[in-house]
Amino acid sequence: METVSSLNWDQIVEEATQILCEYVRIDTTNPPGNELAGAEYLRGICKKEGLEVEIFPSANNRANLLARLKGDGTKKPIILLSHIDVVGAEKEEWSVEPFAGIVKDGSIWGRGTVDCKGLGVMELMSMILLKKNQIKLKRDVILLAVADEETGGEVGAGWMIRNHPDKLRAEFVLNEGGVGMKGGVAGRDSFAPCFGEKGPCWIKVAAEGMPGHGSMPSKDNANDILINALGRLQRYQFPLMGKWVKEALLYFARRASIFRSFLLRMLASPLLSVFLFLLKGVVTKNKRFNAMLRNTVALTNLKAGFKENVIPSRSEAVLDCRLIPGTSTPRFISDLQKIINDQRIKIEVIKNYDASQSPLDTEFFEVIEKTIRKNSPQAMVMPILAPGFTDSRWLREQGLIAYGLIPCLLSSEEVDSIHGRDEKISLESFKLGLKNVYEICLEICTR
Ligand SMILES: [Zn+2]
Repeated sequence: METVSSLNWDQIVEEATQILCEYVRIDTTNPPGNELAGAEYLRGICKKEGLEVEIFPSANNRANLLARLKGDGTKKPIILLSHIDVVGAEKEEWSVEPFAGIVKDGSIWGRGTVDCKGLGVMELMSMILLKKNQIKLKRDVILLAVADEETGGEVGAGWMIRNHPDKLRAEFVLNEGGVGMKGGVAGRDSFAPCFGEKGPCWIKVAAEGMPGHGSMPSKDNANDILINALGRLQRYQFPLMGKWVKEALLYFARRASIFRSFLLRMLASPLLSVFLFLLKGVVTKNKRFNAMLRNTVALTNLKAGFKENVIPSRSEAVLDCRLIPGTSTPRFISDLQKIINDQRIKIEVIKNYDASQSPLDTEFFEVIEKTIRKNSPQAMVMPILAPGFTDSRWLREQGLIAYGLIPCLLSSEEVDSIHGRDEKISLESFKLGLKNVYEICLEICTR
């Protein structure tokens, strides 16, 4: 058996870079997606490497790919998940052609190099290496590359779950969702594996009033009714979810070297509420912490009025609400109604997915953490609840344990390039990601 350190990583990175560049050149901007071409490209590589592989067309020109490397069946499979589609790129904003897939200044450039074709290639290479090195696996490794993540996954992961649940029986999932960041926390490198995601709840808030001439204002102006309601929501601060604060603190307390005993004592003491109160100010000021620890409401759309001198009969707003795991949507809506406190306002849920989470005390999380610490001893590991959502939720719904982590150390510029301009990943970071994904798979499949 070939050991990890005896692998020629420079050669592996070179091969993986070529694959990623070619994969990026296949434009899978969603909409419309056209993921079939991406899936066919991956299938070609899998076939060449002798992997069992299938394509599942799910809509016109859209498809999902599943490859499998068999283990001895002692343990349940692991799924290596990524998505083939990418978000659009505003070409004028970029300093290189977004779909050229090139290496420049020590980085691989192009839409999808991080989100999520980069991760897809790390996963594919891991499978190829496990096969080449003839590793005796205790569980199957399943490579799942899906369509449509960027618009909700209905013809991607959701479609696979509905149509081929038998192919997705597994214990663990590695997916996107969190990243490692250079100097991420107080100047220290940090990895943020994502163990849960808030549930989006998009709602329409509408006011009906009395239409009329703008020269004669009245109390029944739909715009006024709506603005007052939105103002009440804006001034309201949703409570911190104590259970989440406590869980996060407990996690740190178990790992913190200096403050450990102080934190543990604090968590067990009646002073906890005082401590949480003090923490509230810090949490509220930081938009990332704030989003992780309470339900949030963001006003994203306003639709009202059509002429300078006409008071409209209807006025509408859309709110993007994100709910912490364990929040019931009907309860949340009734809370909103109480805060707004105006019968003339109608609330309608447009879209709602439940929040999802996986436990942290699992064998798989242990392996992820151990691998990261081995390859980046100076880095912190800080599990997060993500404010956004990924395909992990589809699999968590089926009882699988899913963590989201692109295990590279990205610069803040690289993190900002996700869904932004000049998306890229440095070769050094890509190499660390390839190594981490491979070693995570090796360990979880052989222990
Ligand atoms: Zn993504």
